[in-house]
Amino acid sequence: MAFKRISDLGDLTGKTAVVRVDLNVPMADGVVTDDTRLQAVKPTVDAVAAAGGRSVLLAHYGRPKGTVVPEMSLKPIVGALADVLGRSVGFAELGDELPDAPVVVMENTRFFAGEEKNDPELAARFAALGDVYINDAFSAAHRAHASTEAIARLLPCAAGETMGAELAALDKALGAPQHPVTAVVGGAKVSSKLAVLEHLVEQVDHLIIGGGMANTFLFAQGYRVGASLCEKDLKDTALKILDNAAEAGCSVHLPTDVVVAREFKAHADNSIKAADAVADADMILDAGPETVKALKAVLAVSKTLVWNGPMGAFEMEPFDAATVALAREAARLTAEGALLSVAGGGDTVAALAHAGAKDDFTHISTAGGAFLEWMEGRLLPGVAALG
Ligand code: ADP
Ligand code: MG
Repeated sequence: MAFKRISDLGDLTGKTAVVRVDLNVPMADGVVTDDTRLQAVKPTVDAVAAAGGRSVLLAHYGRPKGTVVPEMSLKPIVGALADVLGRSVGFAELGDELPDAPVVVMENTRFFAGEEKNDPELAARFAALGDVYINDAFSAAHRAHASTEAIARLLPCAAGETMGAELAALDKALGAPQHPVTAVVGGAKVSSKLAVLEHLVEQVDHLIIGGGMANTFLFAQGYRVGASLCEKDLKDTALKILDNAAEAGCSVHLPTDVVVAREFKAHADNSIKAADAVADADMILDAGPETVKALKAVLAVSKTLVWNGPMGAFEMEPFDAATVALAREAARLTAEGALLSVAGGGDTVAALAHAGAKDDFTHISTAGGAFLEWMEGRLLPGVAALG
């Protein structure tokens, strides 16, 4: 989808840009403990400043559900944001006169009940803060809220620098990708990613299914999965996904060997078994080495990779092995220029970081829900509103 960028908004001299950003940073005792999301704000603030304008930032923090919850105020992040931006940053509540600063943080948008209701009146109050609207919060774009959707209809609007880069990277991975395209979908449950699987079988050439959800597919095909995590009630759903994949010409790759243990804990006694030789007391916690070898061969013939969900219970050694091996292979192929790789999801990003593979991926999305909805093939309301 085509959308405007900041450069399309023209000269912003003397103008104020209302910028929706993601300031949901982790904090402990009022101190920001990870400023990744603050760093992501800088390119847009710099671009607005370069065009002569100033930025008034809208963001939510936590889930105050439409009431004022003082512990969820955005005020404590102002200092850390000023450090990251290298500019003075003011703070205001809706209704205050805006402080005379190049950047102003507005109080938590979710202190207003109208935010999550996409209320046009609240959107109008937000819009009155400036002359143009920029959305730079991809992570919030799957919600039609006053500060992400309704406001975009009231002002000239554009995608911010960080969101624009994210949309461009995602488009290269699933919008108009180079084939063969491979998707890795793993994690705990099929039920949380049904729509993702259903969409991907229509889009990709290879679908690698790993993690706990692979057990459901193995079970559906008549394998015994013992004491493994498995959603037995999704048997028919799993078979339908496999049918659709076959019809669409998508090769589905399931584990042919697995790492099993009798206890769900790090360093539990474990063994490698063929996927059809799992005993009643066994829990499948990772894919086995034969599977990893076959999956590396799939990556080797792929031009594009989209990854969400770990291949095993990666938080517990040694059940991180398949995830780590596949992540490193993807990173190596990407660094060589042979693969375009995009990954997202809270646990997935943690797993790739654990593997030391994160920095070599083409693009890592830190958006959780928005990334999954994008993988489902949905047009996110916050993106659609910019069109
Ligand atoms: P993401 O946050 O990246 O979307 P998920 O939340 O869907 O990923 O899945 C991650 C979780 O899946 C991890 O906590 C991991 O331990 C769990 N998991 C992966 N494989 C298994 C397995 N075989 N058995 C139990 N849990 C698993
Ligand atoms: Mg998760």
